[in-house]
Amino acid sequence: MKTALVLSALFVFLFFSSCDDVEDFFTGPVGPLIDAGVLESQDYNLTTPYYGMQVAISGGVGAGTNHVLNLLDNRARQFLNCLFVDGEQLGFEDVPLENGTVVPPLSNLRVYVVPNRFECEAEGRNVCGGVYYGDLDAIAIAEGGFEGCGEFSVWKHELGHRYGMASDHSNQHEFEPCINPQNCNPGDIFD
Ligand SMILES: [Zn+2]
Repeated sequence: MKTALVLSALFVFLFFSSCDDVEDFFTGPVGPLIDAGVLESQDYNLTTPYYGMQVAISGGVGAGTNHVLNLLDNRARQFLNCLFVDGEQLGFEDVPLENGTVVPPLSNLRVYVVPNRFECEAEGRNVCGGVYYGDLDAIAIAEGGFEGCGEFSVWKHELGHRYGMASDHSNQHEFEPCINPQNCNPGDIFD
């Protein structure tokens, strides 16, 4: 764990120091505001094949529907297998957290998939690659917008919020490396 943290810190340093302009990390347009009302008004008429997460995919998303649904499932399995001893099975169960919250099965989660980063009302940020609303048990997730990080790079990060990562990221270290994209380490720049 300690080694992983040191390595990821080193990677962040190398990543940013290798860029002429740190703004290159963020690419593409920024979509309109996504808040609780927008999340609630979507039609979640798709379900992922493994966990049965409820999904709505916005126009403009480049990846095909089946690819998106499988990706959400597969990365959720990876995340749970990484974070918990009991692993991916927990996605089918109520999961009690240390703070007393009980996280319902993933079939309760609603996921709104959009093509680009979007305006948001998160702590300290107004543009997000993803956002989690605990009251709604809903996540908005961007397909792109972070150069070098691959598609849907903040999905595990948002799952981290669902399973107890604080909105101010004060306990984020407890969730790494389970929430980081494979090819880059966004540190705490995502909400
Ligand atoms: Zn966050």
